This record gives sequence, C-alpha cells and structure tokens, in this order.
Amino acid sequence: MENTSFVKESTTEDTGFLSLNPSTLEVIGKVNNTSKEEINATINKAKIAQKLWSARPDSERKEILLKVAEALQQNAQQLAEWITREQGKPLSGPGSNFEMQACVGWTQVPASLDVPEEIVFEDETRKDVLYRKPIGVVAAIAPWNWPLMIAIWQIIPSLRMGNAVILKPSEYTTFSTLEMIKVINSVLPEDVLQVVTGRGEVGSYLTAHPEIGKIMFTGSIATGKKVIEASSKNMARLTLECGGNDAGIILPGLDLTKHIDNIFWGAFLNMGQTCACLKRLYVHEDDYEKVAKALADYSSHIPMGDGANEANVLGPIQNKMQFDKIQDLIADSENIGADFLFTGQKPDSEGYFIPVTLIGNVDNGNRIVDEEQFGPVLPIIKYKTIEEAIAKANDSENGLGASVWSDNIKEAEEVAGQLEAGTVWINQHGAINPFVPFGGAKQSGYGVEFGIEGLKAVTVPKVISIKK
Ligand code: NDP
Repeated sequence: MENTSFVKESTTEDTGFLSLNPSTLEVIGKVNNTSKEEINATINKAKIAQKLWSARPDSERKEILLKVAEALQQNAQQLAEWITREQGKPLSGPGSNFEMQACVGWTQVPASLDVPEEIVFEDETRKDVLYRKPIGVVAAIAPWNWPLMIAIWQIIPSLRMGNAVILKPSEYTTFSTLEMIKVINSVLPEDVLQVVTGRGEVGSYLTAHPEIGKIMFTGSIATGKKVIEASSKNMARLTLECGGNDAGIILPGLDLTKHIDNIFWGAFLNMGQTCACLKRLYVHEDDYEKVAKALADYSSHIPMGDGANEANVLGPIQNKMQFDKIQDLIADSENIGADFLFTGQKPDSEGYFIPVTLIGNVDNGNRIVDEEQFGPVLPIIKYKTIEEAIAKANDSENGLGASVWSDNIKEAEEVAGQLEAGTVWINQHGAINPFVPFGGAKQSGYGVEFGIEGLKAVTVPKVISIKK
C-alpha cells in the first residue's frame, strides 16, 4: 500500500502535514496543502464540468452512479486496508470492511431514488409545478472518524442531483480518501468530482469562495460555526452535521441479556468516535449495579489492538489531538472522585490506544457528562425518576441522537417523544439507514442527509407557474 504520489517535499510556504498510522505511528505520507490558486482553478473546472453533468439525462447519472457502487465493491478490500492503516479502525467487527459496505450501500440508494416534479397547486386559472434543480458546485468537508463513508454521504447525493463536488478530506485521513476518489473517478466524467487537500485553512478558503453554492459539512460545532460565517460571503446553502452528546435512557427492569451487545456497540462503535454514538447512559438507581456489571463483563471480552490484525475489533484513537482530549476528560473524572467501574486492557503499543472505560458516580455538571468525549469512555449516570432522566438527557446544547431501552415499546415511545434529538432510537443506537433522513436538533446542526430529503437538500427548488 505504498503511496508516494501525493507526497510533496516541505518548502517554506508549504506547511504540509504528516499522516500517521494511529496504531503504530508509522508515517504514511505528507499531505500537500492545495494553494489558493489551485483551489480557484479547481472551482473553474468544476463549473464547466457541472454544466455538462447536469445536462445529461437523469437516467444516465443514475446508471453512472450505480457503476460507481460496483467499482467501490470491487475495490472494497484494498480501500478497507487503507482505512485501517490511516484511520485506525480494525478490518474486523464493525470496522473498515463494514465502512466500505456502507459506502457501497450509500451509493446505491441515492442512485436509485427519484425526486419527481410536483404539481403543488392547480385550479382553473393556474398550475404551479415545483422542480428540483442542481445548485452548482458543492464543497464537501469530511471528517476523520468515518472518512470514506461520510465523504460518500456528501458526494453521491450531490452528484445524483446534477452538482459537481469538491471534497476536502480531513488532513488526518487524506490518503485513504484519495485512494477512494481514484476508484470513483475511474467511472465519473472528468472534473465532476475533485479533491483539495490540507489543513483547515484549505477548507476555510474553499467554503467562503464566491462560486460555492452548497456546503456539506461534518465535524465539530466550533468549525460548523466557522462554516456558517463562510456562507455569509457566498450565501451557500448548508447541511451541517456537528456531532452530538447522545443520551441513552435504560427504563427500569430491562432484560439486559437481549440488549447488552447493542448498548456496547451503540457506545463504542469506532472507539466511540462516531457522531451518533451513545455518550451518556442514564440508568435507574435500582438497576445501576446490574447494568455496570453486565457492560463490564461484555467489554472485557472485546479485543483491542492494531486493526490490521483480524483478531482485534477495537482499535486506536485516530489522532493525538483526540487522544489528548479524551485523556484530559479521564483525568478530570479522576480528580472529581468518579468511580472507575471498568478499565479494559491497553495494548502494549506506541499507538494512540485508550482502553474501554466505564465511569460512575458522575452527573450532569461534570465534564465527562456535559462534553462530547468522542472516545471509548462511557459515563453511567443514576436516576430516580423517568422525568429526571428525560430532563438530564435534554440538558445539552447537542441534539443529534438519543435512545430509549425498554421491553415495553409503548413506554419507550412515550419517553422517545419527549427527547430533544433529530433521531431517537428504541432498543438500538446510531442505527442509521440510507433511506431514512438523518440530522440534528439544537447545535448538532441543521439540514438532513439521506433518503429523498437528503436529495432535496442538494437542490434549489424552482417553480414554473402557468396561467391558464
Ligand atoms: P473539525 O470540525 O475541525 O474537522 C472537520 C473537518 O473540517 C475537517 O475536514 C477539517 O479539516 C475541516 N476544517 C477545519 N477548519 C475548517 C474551516 N475553518 N473551514 C472549513 N473546514 C474546516 O474537527 P476536529 O478534527 O478538530 O475534531 C474536534 C472535535 O469535533 C472532535 O473531538 C469531535 O468532538 C468532533 N468531531 C465530530 C465529528 C462528527 O462526525 N460530527 C467528526 C470529527 C470530529 P482538517 O481536519 O484538515 O483540519
């Protein structure tokens, strides 16, 4: 998997960035910072390509994107190896092979859906027809946690609806993304999908460019707010997925044997580095010991280590910034006298490993509960009444997802109805689906991805109104 084609020697102007394997700290390559002149040229090429792409019959775009899905499937193994090497998630379990299958599915579904024109009004005097038109050039800003899958979420619906896309991968996961783009571009016409690389400044310049019509962003709230500011320059439409601090509420008396694996993976999928992971678990005080023990027992059997070894299903934290942030939250929990209910085995490695950690004797108001940890550390919080659990779950600036766990679905639905989140799952967490709209409430962002709503989000509505 040697890749030197994107490696550029450092110069005084080039503040390029080293991409590392987070399991071993092996250097993968040096990421080139695309210059402003190069970004301008990329946008010019995208504008020309977009006109030709959107002029094609819709059926042709669908067919081409289905061929993209086939190409992704054919290259799934080598792309999964790239993800493991650069992002860190293991090949096994819900890891990089799983991410590649999601890339294939999230390409096939938007390629198959239709957004037909709609007669929104008609009487004897007039007829008004609503069409969905491409916006133009879309800037896609992807993160490092699910670098290929989230890039696909941004790219494919945009292309499906006739836009051109310029993708800026996270500097941490550039090489795996470039490998995927090579595969996709072996099918697409020239310049419909292009990539610019480098640090946040590259994303900042791209998103504020006057020729950008839409920004698809996934990342932190802080950077999401910068993207909002950038869009004040060009009036770009926005889809912002700014993560969450998802609460899960276990209703009293849950039969854990049926649910413990889903609770574990709801919290620890991709080492907890997932926007819609379960990040705060609220448990009735009578069930607290039982839940903590069941989760600890389950966790103790989940192997962590270098993801290239197929025996491992948990891997490292993706980067040093995130590693330090999680360690800081663990240290803060120690300082406030939290209970460490379980700490897993740390692999004997140089890599950015943090073992699965279950923390008790904490509450809203403590940093480990209030802040998104984005790592394999789960606070378990006792509650006395359901009303208290709901109020604490809603006591957050975030509102991406939430979950309710119960053997009584009616009761779970009643609680779900009171939670402030874009999606509330019952007896599962983070169970996204390419047909089902996904987006956040509160500061988790705005706009939705997936399904028909996701396709509409990369279009401008256009009405043709006919006098009869
Ligand atoms: P960022 O929000 O900074 O990164 C997300 C993407 O935005 C990356 O491609 C990044 O590029 C790019 N970017 C950075 N600055 C700008 C800018 N001014 N304009 C446009 N694009 C920009 O997240 P971090 O990597 O700093 O992670 C911080 C926290 O964000 C995590 O601890 C986690 O809580 C959360 N997060 C949430 C994710 C989610 O899925 N919702 C995904 C990742 C992080 P580059 O990486 O090159 O700087």
